[in-house]
Amino acid sequence: MFSKILIANRGEIAVRVIKTCRRMGIKTVVVYSEADADSLGVEMADETVFIGPAPASESYLVQDKIIAACLQTGAQAVHPGFGFLSENASFAQRCADEGIVFIGPNPGAIRAMGDKIESKKFAEAAGVSCVPGHIGEIDDTAHAIRISEEIGYPVMIKASAGGGGKGIRVAHSRQDVEEGFPAVRSEAKSSFGDDRIFIEKFITSPRHIEIQVLGDKHGNVVHLFERECSIQRRNQKVIEEAPSPLLDEATRAAMGAQAVALAKAVNYDSAGTVEFVAGQDKSFYFLEMNTRLQVEHPVTELITGLDLVEQMIRSAFGEAMAFGQKDLKINGWAIESRIYAEDPYRKFLPSIGRLVRYDPPVEGEHSLGEGGGYVVRNDAGVREGDEISMFYDPMISKLCSWAPTRLAAVDGMGRALEDFHIEGLGHNIPFLAAVMDQERFRSGKLSTSYIVDEFPDGFAGTTPTALQSDILTAAGVAMHRMMTKRAGGSDRRDWVVFVGHDSRRVDVDEAGGVLSLYLEGDDRTLTLEGVDWRPGKALFRARLNGAAFTVSVAAAAEGFVIRHRAAKAKVLVLSPNSADLHGKLPEKKAADTSKMIISPMPGLVVSMDVEVGQTVREGEVVCVIEAMKMQNIIRAEREGVVKVVSAKGGDSVAADEVLVEFG
Ligand code: ADP
Ligand code: ADP
Ligand code: MG
Repeated sequence: MFSKILIANRGEIAVRVIKTCRRMGIKTVVVYSEADADSLGVEMADETVFIGPAPASESYLVQDKIIAACLQTGAQAVHPGFGFLSENASFAQRCADEGIVFIGPNPGAIRAMGDKIESKKFAEAAGVSCVPGHIGEIDDTAHAIRISEEIGYPVMIKASAGGGGKGIRVAHSRQDVEEGFPAVRSEAKSSFGDDRIFIEKFITSPRHIEIQVLGDKHGNVVHLFERECSIQRRNQKVIEEAPSPLLDEATRAAMGAQAVALAKAVNYDSAGTVEFVAGQDKSFYFLEMNTRLQVEHPVTELITGLDLVEQMIRSAFGEAMAFGQKDLKINGWAIESRIYAEDPYRKFLPSIGRLVRYDPPVEGEHSLGEGGGYVVRNDAGVREGDEISMFYDPMISKLCSWAPTRLAAVDGMGRALEDFHIEGLGHNIPFLAAVMDQERFRSGKLSTSYIVDEFPDGFAGTTPTALQSDILTAAGVAMHRMMTKRAGGSDRRDWVVFVGHDSRRVDVDEAGGVLSLYLEGDDRTLTLEGVDWRPGKALFRARLNGAAFTVSVAAAAEGFVIRHRAAKAKVLVLSPNSADLHGKLPEKKAADTSKMIISPMPGLVVSMDVEVGQTVREGEVVCVIEAMKMQNIIRAEREGVVKVVSAKGGDSVAADEVLVEFG
């Protein structure tokens, strides 16, 4: 076996590969840019090599630097992770030329599959069912219109070299093609340095189902069943699971056989993924093949018990696979939630900054009560205090749950998300929790338009359900009693609890660490026990009527702001007299920000496009802010005359910073 492997990547995947190498007794070398000098991967690696400035184009993407690092440290092989150089055939070839083993497929397979047009040709020849369309390059807009009309609207215009959800656009009409074709072409040119475009049928509200394949250098290829990744925003995956709730045995076998046939057709000899879109009727069409480890590979590991990084290393070393298709079976159900540094309440815009608090759920087995349970796995490359920088993917971690059944895995994910505490930047945990609680998600009726269908106006949190109101009430009362006791206050029994605008009278009794809360209005008693909290702690854990829950708590001017999953409310615990007064107080108004343009996230001002005295119409561009390599165009929400301009091109701005004021 190899004795030393270099990891040409960063973040959680660098850590993930190190863990497997350690278990296999292989030494690791991690390369790092200026931005990653203090990262967890660098801390865990046996050796490290500095490779330059933060921008990937000056560090992680520079082939010479990676090759030099291998030669300098004597690493015999390179694991590229995903993104960066992982699907770069010329890099794989370079490694081979230098006598370094590339832990991934052979360059020929990458070349054949890394390009969407080429891969569709191969797929068609291998008998794989493809999305109907034109398998070839589009010359110009007129050609694009002719092909689109042959295929029939809606169509999808795609960059052949595209990836990561970029270089894709739907067209519903001739006009959409006229606008969309040049747009995709220029995006493809600037993002991938390759402006070849093709067009295929747009399958309306399909499901994204992909097959994991694994090959060795001896001609063996198996598939490790499917993953469903239909929960997407901007064509990017957010929640994935294995297996898929859609498939039956026959469809699974048919998709698996096609994926294996395609892999064999290109002599595939590593881990890879064949992606399909599927109709609700279980028809399925080939999309593309990803010739690398996939971000969401942990869910496959959880249902098969295999370590895909280990399998890639063994295949690259030349070992024959130790098992065949008939040895593989699906065990239970696994779900992955991508925890992103993005603000779900603001159109999922990136939210970079420092992880002031980072407290993930405990990995391993957990109980769901009544004999049920779930397993938590959290793949992360960060620690408390680390910075999520604007240079790379804004993913914080990948939280997975496993359980014997899908619903138990969903419930386990819900609980694990409750137990995940992050402060310092915006994150999508409340959003992910909202999805876990939706009846449509629980019943497995998924589609790639799920997020748009279910959150047409964006995400604004949810209002507490009856059970969540009970949880917020009980937690609020327990915390309030602890705080008043500490302050030497009287231990009264009767309280009025406000959850948002709703209030109810509660009679409290405590015996042997168990709080009984009698809710007067609806004549019920709640039992709260096992409280794990003290003033200042951000997570409050307890059991309500026997069921474990966790809420996150922030102190407010009076009372607390408590969040359970996606439901957040201000909770006030008052004596009946104070409650009477409280009810009579006028509500405080929020500051009027309608005449201001506020930065939606921390970032760099690329351009300020207005000046003092200028009249700006609704929808007009005010400025452009770059964060996480995304340029965000900030537009005026209404007409107005610019009174103050507080930022200029080149400035760094914080979230909520005022950029422009109107008169
Ligand atoms: P998966 O199918 O595994 O979810 P994605 O296609 O979303 O993979 O990409 C995986 C990772 O690689 C992401 O971090 C994404 O940002 C990055 N990535 C993929 N393709 C490209 C590309 N062409 N350019 C830049 N980054 C890419
Ligand atoms: P990438 O390389 O960016 O991952 P894909 O071709 O895999 O690009 O497409 C990304 C996502 O876009 C898919 O998961 C799917 O949700 C959607 N998509 C792509 N092609 C189609 C299509 N022809 N019809 C409907 N949805 C599509
Ligand atoms: Mg894809």
